[in-house]
This record gives sequence, C-alpha cells and structure tokens, in this order.
Amino acid sequence: MAASLQLLQFKPLKPSFSFFSRRSVSPICSAAPTPSKSQRSYTITLLPGDGIGPEVISVAKDVLLLAGHLEGIKYEFRERLIGGAALDATGVPLPDETLSAAKQSDAVLLGAVGGYKWDNNDKHLKPETALLGLRQELKVFANLRPASVFPQLVDASTLKRAVAEGVDLMVVRELTGGIYFGKPRGFDTNEDGEEFGFNTEIYAEHEIDRIAHAAFKIARKRRGKLCSVDKANVLEASILWRRRVSAIAQEYPDVELSHMYVDNAAMQLIRNPKQFDTIVTNNIFGDILSDEASMITGSIGMLPSASLGASGPGLFEPIHGSAPDIAGQDKANPFATVLSAAMLLRYGLDEEKAAQRIENAVLDTLNKGFRTGDIYSTGTKLVGCKQLGEEIMKSVESNVPSGATV
Ligand code: NAD
Repeated sequence: MAASLQLLQFKPLKPSFSFFSRRSVSPICSAAPTPSKSQRSYTITLLPGDGIGPEVISVAKDVLLLAGHLEGIKYEFRERLIGGAALDATGVPLPDETLSAAKQSDAVLLGAVGGYKWDNNDKHLKPETALLGLRQELKVFANLRPASVFPQLVDASTLKRAVAEGVDLMVVRELTGGIYFGKPRGFDTNEDGEEFGFNTEIYAEHEIDRIAHAAFKIARKRRGKLCSVDKANVLEASILWRRRVSAIAQEYPDVELSHMYVDNAAMQLIRNPKQFDTIVTNNIFGDILSDEASMITGSIGMLPSASLGASGPGLFEPIHGSAPDIAGQDKANPFATVLSAAMLLRYGLDEEKAAQRIENAVLDTLNKGFRTGDIYSTGTKLVGCKQLGEEIMKSVESNVPSGATV
C-alpha cells in the first residue's frame, strides 16, 4: 500500500510544451509508494464506473501496462465497482469491498460515475455520492487540475487564439472540506411554513494550512506565482482562508502571492488566463473554476486530475463525467484518462520515466492528427476511442522523445 508523506515530485523534463514541465525535484505533499524503488511492482485499483468510464479506463489500463512493461514496472490490477454500476449490483454506490481495495492499493484510477438512470435516486443512493465518500475515505485533500492548451488543439478553444495560446495553469482545489461537507446541512421549514435548504461553508485552520503548503510548493516548482481565490469580502470562512494563506506565505518568500475574489477570478480566467500560474482555492470555488479553466483548453476530454493526501494512495481521474450521451458508442476521448494514468505514475508511484513515455505518446498521437469527435477539426483524422487507444499504444512503444513531438 502507498505510504509516506513526501513524494509528490516534479522532475525536470525536456519538453518544448510546458503542459508536462515541472521544474525540479522536491516533495509537495503526498503519495509515495510503499514498494521500494527496486521492487517496482504496484497494486492499482481500477474503478471504471459508469457511462464512458469503462471505455476510457480500458484504454488507460492498456497504456499503463505497456508503458510499465517497457520501463520494467509490474502491476496487479484490481477492478472494482463504483457509482451506478455498484448500485445496480450491490445496492450501494461505494461498496465496502471497493473502498477496502482502494485503500490497500498503491494508487486508484477512476473513470467516471453517474447517468440518467440514477438521476432521481435519493442523495445517498446517487452514484456521485461514491466520489465524495471515496475522496473523504482516502483523505485526499489536494486536487490538482492542470489546464494547459495543447498547441495542436489551440483552435478548439472557444477563446481567441491570442488569448488561449500558451495557457498553462494549475488549479489546486481543497477537496475534503468546505460547503460540500460542512455541517449543519439539510432541509427545514421556516415560521411561514416554507421549506428551505441550507449548507455550511466551514474551514478550520489546519485544513487551510495544509492545502496552502501544497499549493506554495507546487507554485515554487512552476513559475513561482500563486493566486489565492476567495470571497473574503463576504464570507468569514474566506477571511480566515486569506489570513492563513498570507501567514503561510512568509515561509515561501520565493513565491509571489496574490489574492483575488472568486467573481473576479471567473472573469479573469476568460479575459486573460495567461496571467495565472498556480491557483489555490476552496472546494466549491475550485470545482467551478477548474471546470471553467478546462473550457479554455477546448475539450473536457483532454484534462486529467490527481487527488493527493498526506499519506496513502492517490486518486487519479479525468475531470469529465460519464458522458451518458455518447456512452457505448466508441466516441469517448480517452486522452484525459490516459493523462491521468501518467499523473498516477508521476505523483502516485514516482515513476517519472513511464509517465513521460505516456505524455510524449499523447503529444505524438495528436501530432499525427488522430482525434475523437470532441476535438476533431477539418484536416485531422476522426477515430473512435478504441482506435485512438491503439494509436497511443504505438507511440508508447516507439517512445518518441518529448522534444521531437511538438
Ligand atoms: P460530462 O462531463 O459527462 O459531459 C459533458 C459533455 O462533454 C457531454 O456532451 C459529453 O458527451 C462530453 N464529454 C465528456 N467527456 C468526454 C470525453 N471523454 N470524450 C468526449 N466527450 C466528452 O458532464 P455531465 O453531462 O454534466 O454529466 C454526466 C454525468 O456524469 C452526470 O451523472 C454527472 O453527475 C456525472 N459526472 C461525474 C463526474 C465524475 O465521475 N467525476 C464528473 C462530472 C459529472
């Protein structure tokens, strides 16, 4: 099982495209594997989930296997049910068996959960409940969401080329606190007999401190700029957030800290996204802003994420959902899940070479013009999820150097 609290490493690569560039080697916050480096054998829990989840996980598993094999890594894969698939089979969205397999592995790779079929279920029986439960049980408090515009896909962005080109930002979202978990919460009836719903935005110092430390360390390895996003003009929890982030900044004099209100941040992401390097924010603002940032890149199907805690396995997943509208039609873009597998190798297992091999293969496949429908443009080659997977595998095998790909 994954253990110690040190290695979220950013190693120097030699890319000409900065999506994958990390500037030096240094611990961030978590996710080092227990197996010694010489052992190089890992247990990975695969959670395909619902909709397009199984399609994209199947591609990512093959890519992981091949890249691992070529770099001398062995895996034991454990596939378990989650979300709607688990509900149908066991009556709960996150079976104990799934949770225990996840906790006992070195890393967890998740597809997506949810679908029309379960939309009207009670909250505790919704597939999405499994995600919140899994994140909470794995104690993964830092969610890393890179949003970088691939040079090959810059025209897929809805923003003007001049605005989108060169965007390379990382949203560090607090994942286990705030309004999504705060109590009290619920429904009640007021004195007029009207029903109301309520939630609580709540952050304790230690929750802010640990995500701030993680974000400063990430910013330090990127371009040294950290923007903390809050709503400190209105919310007490945000006032504390700003106070703690400012205090912790004293320990990182090499990082330039700025603060921004969330409404302004939402505007600035569209107006001038290149101004951002690393953004740190709370759970709900991070949820919204990282989805907004993802649209700058042109497709939700390109974006991976990593969720890391102080110890134990990290959770790696594409940011997109289960896309029920295209499920089972071989139309899903598997790149986001394949890139999540690369993040798993880098941040979860400290297997930098295999991670690079996969990332280079993604760039190479894009360079060769292969596209799924969501990123297709005239002059490129439209392929399905399976064929795109095969093309990625060919590039993994030929191990193109990163410098040669873009
Ligand atoms: P979605 O991300 O599933 O889909 C939004 C749009 O993007 C759809 O048109 C879809 O076809 C497209 N899309 C998404 N991923 C794609 C891919 N890899 N390749 C090509 N096209 C892709 O979001 P949604 O429609 O709001 O949600 C659908 C279901 O997924 C809901 O049940 C929702 O709760 C769930 N969901 C799950 C997660 C998760 O598992 N992490 C995240 C978001 C939504």
